[in-house]
Amino acid sequence: IPGRPPAPGELGRGCPFAPRCPLAEDRCRTAEPALDTGSDGSDGTHDRTSGHLAACVRADELAARRPAPAEVYPVPAVPAPARALPPRAERDTVLAVRGLTKSFPRLKGAVLKRRIGDIHAVDGVDLDIRRGETLGLVGESGSGKSTTLYELLRLAAPQGGRIELLGQDTAALDRAAARRLRARVQIVFQDPAASLDPRMPIGDIVAEPLQAQRAPREEVRRRIPELLRQVGLDPEHADRYPHQFSGGQRQRISIARALAVRPDLLVLDEPVSALDVSVQAGVLNLLQQLKAELGLAYLFVSHDLSVVRYLADRVAVMYLGRTVETGAVTEVFERPRHPYTRALLSAVPLPDPAAERRRSKLLLAGDPPSPTVRHEGCRFRSRCPVYAALDAERRGRCERDTPPDTAAAPGVDHVAACH
Ligand code: ADP
Ligand code: MG
Repeated sequence: IPGRPPAPGELGRGCPFAPRCPLAEDRCRTAEPALDTGSDGSDGTHDRTSGHLAACVRADELAARRPAPAEVYPVPAVPAPARALPPRAERDTVLAVRGLTKSFPRLKGAVLKRRIGDIHAVDGVDLDIRRGETLGLVGESGSGKSTTLYELLRLAAPQGGRIELLGQDTAALDRAAARRLRARVQIVFQDPAASLDPRMPIGDIVAEPLQAQRAPREEVRRRIPELLRQVGLDPEHADRYPHQFSGGQRQRISIARALAVRPDLLVLDEPVSALDVSVQAGVLNLLQQLKAELGLAYLFVSHDLSVVRYLADRVAVMYLGRTVETGAVTEVFERPRHPYTRALLSAVPLPDPAAERRRSKLLLAGDPPSPTVRHEGCRFRSRCPVYAALDAERRGRCERDTPPDTAAAPGVDHVAACH
């Protein structure tokens, strides 16, 4: 849905939805339609007694014609990159992660805490991002997505495994090198209300990373309106405070702030999960447009697979701290190889209501096991429908051996960790 809801004080005479409605006609702008059943039901399209009311002068026509959503709201074309990208293999690696692990101590006691074990939050993550590309990182809540991001952003040696950012091993950085690298990787958080300082005007919020990098004052003054414009905000509003903006606009402010220092990699942790669906679309389109203009790379965390399919070039699926399937989005979505990915994909809502009713969802039994135990063999087997259907002899392998990443076929960008 284009635009945004009008402020209560700005309502005109007509239908309040008309300014955003692709089907609005002249009559919609002159009077507000009554909340009504519409026709008398004699044309067979409507049951007057159903109690189904709509405040739209074209409600009957739509009920009879039943246009597909995309006929009413055309899907905007994905913007093409400003410069055509060379093939993936020829592009620089922005981020390479191998075998990343991170555990937290499990503590007991209120004052004198003692360690009673470990929480294996991240336990074998592999990621690979090239310039100009979006990697979607998906997985259930608690699968270790945020912990993975924080480990990357620490710019230090990880507990286990290896992180290479823009060609530099984070375990080998001195302070000056870490500072230089810090500007090239920026993060956008899920909740813009919590991540923006409520006491600062948004112009100052956006300028802060530039000042931290000791940018000249002249440059900071010049960049603020430029950044606000870039994310679709009015530069005149630089002196307003975060609470004067809507959720979607606040997320745009977070994005402007992250872009201030011209990063190479933008890390986004569930950036649209706190927003209404119609507002989500605006922010996602902005991200697509910025990527095309600036040639950025994104590491985009989401539990929403529809969002990942729309935005990402590649996807990595996490289960209980480990990446279990990775590959090009079209490959993974059309030919999922891991039973967990299959289950996740079977639950994605389909836009066509008829297809939505027909499809069958794969329900996974139970919750993910606790990350306080390090599991032998395949850690998905307790919920795996494939494992459940195996005979005892064939189950042994899933119980004993951790499945290695295996490629779908030579030269195809698609690996999965399933026997
Ligand atoms: P996600 O972002 O995928 O929802 P998280 O990375 O936030 O997952 O969490 C992964 C696991 O690590 C969870 O079991 C969570 O409870 C645990 N965890 C995360 N942060 C901490 C912490 N600071 N201390 C202890 N446990 C943590
Ligand atoms: Mg998280």
